Amino acid sequence: MKNPDKFDVIIIGAGPIGLACGIEAKKAGLSYVIIDKGCLVHSIYSYPLNMTFFSTSDKLEIGDVPFISHGNKPNRFEALEYYRRVCASWDLQVKLYERVESVEPGDDEKIVKTTKGTYVTRAVILATGFYDLPFMMNVEGEDLPKVKHYYDEPHPYYKQDIAVIGAANSAVDVALETWRRDANVTMVIREPSILETVKYWVKPDIINRIEEGSIKAYFNSTVEKITETEIIINTPEGKKTIKNDFVLAMTGYRPDFTFMEKMGLAFHEDEYRTPVYHEDTNETNVKNIYLAGVACGGLRTNKWFIENSRVHAGVIIKDIATK
Ligand SMILES: Cc1cc2nc3c(=O)[nH]c(=O)nc-3n(C[C@H](O)[C@H](O)[C@H](O)COP(=O)(O)OP(=O)(O)OC[C@H]3O[C@@H](n4cnc5c(N)ncnc54)[C@H](O)[C@@H]3O)c2cc1C
Repeated sequence: MKNPDKFDVIIIGAGPIGLACGIEAKKAGLSYVIIDKGCLVHSIYSYPLNMTFFSTSDKLEIGDVPFISHGNKPNRFEALEYYRRVCASWDLQVKLYERVESVEPGDDEKIVKTTKGTYVTRAVILATGFYDLPFMMNVEGEDLPKVKHYYDEPHPYYKQDIAVIGAANSAVDVALETWRRDANVTMVIREPSILETVKYWVKPDIINRIEEGSIKAYFNSTVEKITETEIIINTPEGKKTIKNDFVLAMTGYRPDFTFMEKMGLAFHEDEYRTPVYHEDTNETNVKNIYLAGVACGGLRTNKWFIENSRVHAGVIIKDIATK
């Protein structure tokens, strides 16, 4: 077997923050590679086709590459183009469609095993985000092809009876977008109301659509079973059976805790399973393994986003470079 490639730092995840880490590593003269199991910025690629960022484009910039968008807030297509351009401008070393399966500990050298090879590195940065594992409802029928945990566009749902599960930003956006393309929308919401965290400029729209009866909403309700043609829900008024063609389960996503645990990472005993890391350096309880980007928040997936976690890259690389 040939000797594995050696690096100062391996960055797992080619999302915006993984790319920012690669840029800082390059600036510091460290050898590095960014490895992603999917395409470049795979999470953004998986977002709804018509999505618009809530941040203005300047707040999503990395590596001093200007991000000019048509409107003041960029859309998904502009962001994909932007991050490709960042990669090209910095000539970043990126390996795509290569899943990291394990990181074997060792203070001075770690072995990183992927679906395509084995690497040796001094340090590892986990910039793995949270968008790969949806929260499952764990109900009968969830495995039917008509049940989606990711939403792309409204067209397939034209004139269809759809159930949108959830009451956070994604669920609200999906309900409004599909309803405006003539879907017959029913929302099934575990909570007593639309969530507080829904964008303030969208909230009145969904509340008004529900109050006028255009979108039907069942609050304090849960899904019990899904069949090819129906959905059965538990409501405060009892069990209801609703005609249904598609279920869009916008129930949120969570980080891959198993992957983190396997490499020895520890977690606080809070409700978010926040990973343990040093706030000044982002180094975890495992020496030379660092956390960057949204992965830092555990289940609190709205704590960190691109805008406020871009800074992790500089902090982490400074620490690695000075060791
Ligand atoms: C609809 C929506 C709108 C948003 N709008 C905004 C906004 O306006 N402003 C803002 O700042 N933020 C916004 N966010 C949040 C923002 O997109 C995320 O914070 C951002 O993508 C986080 O970047 P990241 O690099 O930390 O993680 P991600 O972008 O999630 O990247 C993680 C990468 O790691 C890869 N990966 C995971 N596991 C492995 C493995 N084992 N091996 C190899 N690769 C792996 C994944 O494929 C992925 O490409 C939005 C999020 C959503 C869902």
